[in-house]
Amino acid sequence: MKLGDYMKSIYGYTEEMLKEYLKSNNQKPFRAAQLIEWLYRHKISSFDEITNMKKDFILQLKNDFTIDELECVTHQKSSDGTQKFLFKLADGNLIETVLMCHDYGYSVCVTTQVGCNMGCQFCASGMKKKLRNLEAFEIVLQILTVSKLADVRVSHVVVMGIGEPFDNYDNVIRFLKIINNPLGLEIGARHITVSTCGLVDKIYEYSDFDLQVNLAISLHAPNNEIRNQIMNINKAYPIEKLIDAIKYYIDKTNRRVTIEYILLQGINDSKQNANELANLLHGLNVYVNLIPYNEVIEKPYKRSKPEDMVSFFDVLKKRRINVQLRREQGGDIDAACGQLRSKHIK
Ligand code: SAH
Repeated sequence: MKLGDYMKSIYGYTEEMLKEYLKSNNQKPFRAAQLIEWLYRHKISSFDEITNMKKDFILQLKNDFTIDELECVTHQKSSDGTQKFLFKLADGNLIETVLMCHDYGYSVCVTTQVGCNMGCQFCASGMKKKLRNLEAFEIVLQILTVSKLADVRVSHVVVMGIGEPFDNYDNVIRFLKIINNPLGLEIGARHITVSTCGLVDKIYEYSDFDLQVNLAISLHAPNNEIRNQIMNINKAYPIEKLIDAIKYYIDKTNRRVTIEYILLQGINDSKQNANELANLLHGLNVYVNLIPYNEVIEKPYKRSKPEDMVSFFDVLKKRRINVQLRREQGGDIDAACGQLRSKHIK
């Protein structure tokens, strides 16, 4: 497949788009539902497997669309059940996808771009500049392929893999509509979370999007001084602007926002930082996820000491902020962002 051919992949089509296609080909709209069932329930790998459509129409589908697959290059399994997949795209680029097992079901963490341009100092993904956005079908296929290979039903999705989803906004939105479709993968909007480093304009746009999808913000700092130092995006959208956008999202959707905060030794993990963070988030409907940093060989940052993580947590708790100290998954399989891909590219 050539890159420009991406519109041929049927996995990039929402139900509405399929209906438009059917209409312009003088087919009944209910065929869209049938197609979705074949693709995402029966998980067919060829249009020939379809049994409830006429031969000439199947021939036409074969002509107009492709049923793509992702080639799995490596598959690692962690002792805690986390599985990591390295996929090769049609143009040879490599992406990674993670499957996690929880008491409430299986969740998948998807990649949205080849590389990333956001330049967060602590992150392994950003060491490779963005080569291109992923197409909607390439994000959809990550979930479909993982659920096939691991033979599980995926119930939750986090858009937290490599890339900045709001820097690939239209494809990510289309992806969300496709996986949410109740006739297909049926991943409930409330079970989907999109994480951004803080592209403020897009947070406003996302607040007005009609699916009930969750939002997570990679904040990682309680003030502009620290945030400027570790996240380039803060120079374009400082914390005050980001907080305004978060407030807008909460007002508009009535949903709680997850605040991600990686604890970096000596950078953002003092008790004073915790108090500043509590001041910043006071009165907002948010949930703070404190994340132990996954150290990256090429980066100078260190994981906070366990006792500092606990005191940071305690300060927030005392200040009545909803907070959890996230347990780590997949530590033994390069599951931290971008680490598997970086290794392979080297
Ligand atoms: N660009 C989006 C989504 C991808 S990053 C965003 O920034 O939210 C997903 C999350 O992993 C972010 O919170 C990111 O800051 C965090 N992260 C990146 N590198 C990490 C590392 N080495 N250890 C722990 N978390 C990391």
